[in-house]
Amino acid sequence: TIEFVRATQLQGDEEPSGPPPPTQAQQKESIQAVRRSLPVFPFREELLAAIANHQVLIIEGETGSGKTTQIPQYLFEEGYTKKGMKIACTQPRRVAAMSVAARVAREMGVKLGNEVGYSIRFEDCTSERTVLRYMTDGMLLREFLSEPDLASYSVVMVDEAHERTLHTDILFGLIKDVARFRPELKVLVASATLDTARFSTFFDDAPVFRIPGRRFPVDIFYTKAPEADYLEACVVSVLQIHVTQPPGDILVFLTGQEEIEAACEMLQDRCRRLGSKIRELLVLPIYANLPSDMQARIFQPTPPGARKVVVATNIAETSLTIEGIIYVLDPGFCKQKSYNPRTGMESLTVTPCSKASANQRAGRAGRVAAGKCFRLYTAWAYQHELEETTVPEIQRTSLGNVVLLLKSLGIHDLMHFDFLDPPPYETLLLALEQLYALGALNHLGELTTSGRKMAELPVDPMLSKMILASEKYSCSEEILTVAAMLSVNNSIFYRPKDKVVHADNARVNFFLPGGDHLVLLNVYTQWAESGYSSQWCYENFVQFRSMRRARDVREQLEGLLERVEVGLSSCQGDYIRVRKAITAGYFYHTARLTRSGYRTVKQQQTVFIHPNSSLFEEQPRWLLYHELVLTTKEFMRQVLEIESSWLLEVAPHYYKAKELEDPHSKKMPKKIGKTREELG
Ligand code: ADP
Ligand code: MG
Repeated sequence: TIEFVRATQLQGDEEPSGPPPPTQAQQKESIQAVRRSLPVFPFREELLAAIANHQVLIIEGETGSGKTTQIPQYLFEEGYTKKGMKIACTQPRRVAAMSVAARVAREMGVKLGNEVGYSIRFEDCTSERTVLRYMTDGMLLREFLSEPDLASYSVVMVDEAHERTLHTDILFGLIKDVARFRPELKVLVASATLDTARFSTFFDDAPVFRIPGRRFPVDIFYTKAPEADYLEACVVSVLQIHVTQPPGDILVFLTGQEEIEAACEMLQDRCRRLGSKIRELLVLPIYANLPSDMQARIFQPTPPGARKVVVATNIAETSLTIEGIIYVLDPGFCKQKSYNPRTGMESLTVTPCSKASANQRAGRAGRVAAGKCFRLYTAWAYQHELEETTVPEIQRTSLGNVVLLLKSLGIHDLMHFDFLDPPPYETLLLALEQLYALGALNHLGELTTSGRKMAELPVDPMLSKMILASEKYSCSEEILTVAAMLSVNNSIFYRPKDKVVHADNARVNFFLPGGDHLVLLNVYTQWAESGYSSQWCYENFVQFRSMRRARDVREQLEGLLERVEVGLSSCQGDYIRVRKAITAGYFYHTARLTRSGYRTVKQQQTVFIHPNSSLFEEQPRWLLYHELVLTTKEFMRQVLEIESSWLLEVAPHYYKAKELEDPHSKKMPKKIGKTREELG
């Protein structure tokens, strides 16, 4: 067992006793009654009046008060979508956009994709009739490319503004500008109870509309001592809560799909072993790539006598509200992007979450009754080790994508763009440099023809460059597949615990000389030859859903080829051409083997091949990687063997022959690093 100590209480504004958690009958109450019971409902008229009277309104309200699902409906009912005008509501997360749109369609009694729809990258569930559009912030950003004044929208609601994602931050600047010359456009900025004063100031002191929340007190518990293995501690604590605490569902915050799947598996495993000794525990995951039928399950009422535990990413922090949560279990971590503009290296790391984040999480336990939050860290750690708030994404990510987009919108002077928080100067500079190296900008910083094409493709600049280069190397068929597979990359293979050896053998069978990109190509090609069969996936330990998604992405990219003037062609087995096209996009991400292991070519950073890579044991002299992931070390994920001479061929303006010479060629060690077996 894990010992928790009660330390503090998150104050609520309702009586601690409060009403009991909703029974199943209440949960089945008519959908309209539920709508009327939400905290935003009593403010409907007042809110609509404020929107009518002000062009920009900041809306602040506790999570679950009905901002996302109700306000667009009120606007619809009020006639804001007359004459075919649309309402956009942005979400930082794909899952949230999908799930919320589905909910609203149900509330309005329409089919999803008709009046209400969603639009996320590579997936458009809207039609001519769609007037309420839930979309990711990135998709609205791309709308500016085809409609720079958003002329077909009457209202833009930037939701979850407190998340401060890169795309949301850029939207602020663009929308503020559009609002100036479109006085009839309504702008709503909706946020949890954080940061609203900043938004108001940014939008020339726009008024803040506060929706009073309904919050019950939440008792906060901390562990007595730090927990070394938080996943194990999580599983133990969930069972502990299940066995010792009165009814009420549990929400657990983990950092990503792999962790969530592992935790769910462990929980199910232990419940099975305990059998009828404990009451039924429903274990439900929720993360970005979860298929939508599985997503819907978390919202279904818990059967009487059972308890539900939802194991979620940050998505459940503010974007989604699950009824009936009384207990929150918070290990205190999240996955965060960080970027080093000096080296140009971006990495995704599991880091402690902020205090603001921890308190949002705790708040999720007090929505329907007084709740409890168990933090898997000490009170001391909370006080001394957590940052107050999360740094906005714009300050810890690479900006290539966004800079390319802004340039395509004709915004040249990026240094003076109206940022809520400006990005670091070096990051902006490096983005410009990289786009120049990729040929997207000329030496005056102006968009080139090739840059314009790159902006057309809804992928990172390096990936678009790779796709454009496939024209020259006549291998667009293969490159499309590689691009699609890379976009689902970490979830292609699965490795069930009881069949580890079989699964690993199946994976090794796909290995081709040259590296991981070709392995991905090989998997896809064989799957296509099987007639896109699910049985084939099952037999080869390949995730069918990931493959299906790759196929969707591939089709969409193929549909865009014509616009960027790339013809369909195949390399006919000449993989050197495929590898060169990949190099033309990723020449930035190169590493060479030195006497002390792999070093990135330009910055001389120490990096390692990920043990899952097909090249882990080969240790080629020159390689490129798709991404870096920092776990115990800086691992390169998806690596491809290249020849240094190709770098001169694809990026002569970036590499000089001299820096590609290999002075130590004779004294190379046979093998560097540990073998797969040593790593376990
Ligand atoms: P906010 O945006 O203010 O956080 P929402 O509009 O997302 O609030 O949620 C309002 C209420 O709608 C929530 O309390 C939740 O109970 C309900 N709700 C939202 N999505 C779903 C869903 N998919 N299934 C059932 N109920 C939902
Ligand atoms: Mg919301």
